[in-house]
Amino acid sequence: MDPEEFRRAGYAVVDWIADYWTTLGERPVTSQDPPGTVAAALPTAPPTYGEPVDAVLADLDSLIAPRLTHWQHPGWFGYFPANTSGPSVLGDLVSSGLGVQGMLWATGPACTELETVMLDWLAGLLDLPEKFRSTGRGGGVIQDSASSATLVATLVALHRAGGGRWRQAGVDRRYRAYTSTQGHSSIDKAARIAGLGSDGVRPVEVDPATQAMRPEALRAAIEADRAAGVVPAIVVATIGTTSTTAIDPLPEIGAICAEYGVWLHVDAAYAGAAAVCPELRWTHAGLAHADSYCFDPHKWLLTGFDCDAFWVADSGELIEALTVLPEYLRNAATESGAVIDYRDWQVPLGRRFRALKLWFVLRWYGVEGLRAHIRSGVALADRFADRVAADARFELVAPHPFSLVCFRLRAGDEASAELLARVNATGRVHLTHTRVEGRYTLRLAIGSPQTRQEHTDEAWDLLASAATEILAC
Ligand SMILES: *Cc1c(COP(=O)(O)O)cnc(C)c1O
Repeated sequence: MDPEEFRRAGYAVVDWIADYWTTLGERPVTSQDPPGTVAAALPTAPPTYGEPVDAVLADLDSLIAPRLTHWQHPGWFGYFPANTSGPSVLGDLVSSGLGVQGMLWATGPACTELETVMLDWLAGLLDLPEKFRSTGRGGGVIQDSASSATLVATLVALHRAGGGRWRQAGVDRRYRAYTSTQGHSSIDKAARIAGLGSDGVRPVEVDPATQAMRPEALRAAIEADRAAGVVPAIVVATIGTTSTTAIDPLPEIGAICAEYGVWLHVDAAYAGAAAVCPELRWTHAGLAHADSYCFDPHKWLLTGFDCDAFWVADSGELIEALTVLPEYLRNAATESGAVIDYRDWQVPLGRRFRALKLWFVLRWYGVEGLRAHIRSGVALADRFADRVAADARFELVAPHPFSLVCFRLRAGDEASAELLARVNATGRVHLTHTRVEGRYTLRLAIGSPQTRQEHTDEAWDLLASAATEILAC
């Protein structure tokens, strides 16, 4: 494909995406086709001779688009949002076009330096503690996901807990990670990958009313482990748990971590974006205690997957834990000590130029544009929750500080599960569920860029009329 062919095909692809976004609201949110439908419709081997991009676009229309789960749909309320946006796509397109590998400063000076500055911009935007800025010993890096951020935090924490010898000696003692019973599954996965074994994570009890970690239970767990000769390595506290957006009490947890010398990682994958709004920064109280922190601009901040922003207070410790320098990567810039080589801040060696999409997004929306996006999600969630609270057949299940509302029918688990199935079958909305204190709970997570009041109102109307049908049976 020469540059002129690329130009023509590229315009057609951009048109295709713009048309997709324009018609999104008219499509069913999820596909109703059975498993295997897409695979059966595809040829069993690639074409022998090349085909024009138009042929691929035609198949995108007929084969792929109808069998998608449309995460950018205005009726998308499942899991957490996974935003994308025009400027994000354009930034990613430039990144793809450049094809730069940013593993070392020397392999992409602008790739590295733009990333450092974007993470400092974001730290300022969220008003994160000063220690996370690159101007001191700290700094930020883009990981592919919050799961990777937790893995990296676990590795550095182990390095510290092992007195800096963990990397050399391997796991010679028993180390343990702590998170609440509501902590994300990626914490278990990180502990497994890091070699902590199947009991490497100790789940800490939560307060049943708030679903937030109970600090006394954390202290008791740490003390019991220490008495048994296990080394407490890391506590992962969550701002905005995946199930209900509970907020762990960082001031108390931080004090316990400081007392026992345990690494504190704060996982704010979804809810971190809320801190762009000064009125929501109370959710980050106590973050000054954290050794590391991450949030996903790819969830609620209009930046396409993958983009997790991860900060550490001491990048020296991180580099010490992860650096490996083979001869073929040696270069004068690295040796000068004056540059950042982000390969030492992550698991893989290679890395894409992801700072570009952040740069495009931050410049296109500006601080106020991003705040408006968050505020609209929070306001719509408040409005929806008011409707739930005003209907005696329903109950709210947990606080809703962000844009997730958890609720259920008072009639019980079966009725609530039936309610979810019925509203999702309309194809107009898509919600998912969780269990809170064992009870089936519906989740309505707002944050798709196209979602407006008319869409959350429609979701409520569908839920209310489905409830009428179910309760009449
Ligand atoms: C979504 C989520 C994650 C995982 O996010 P990825 O970026 O997909 O790895 C981790 N922690 C919490 C609290 C989450 O909500």
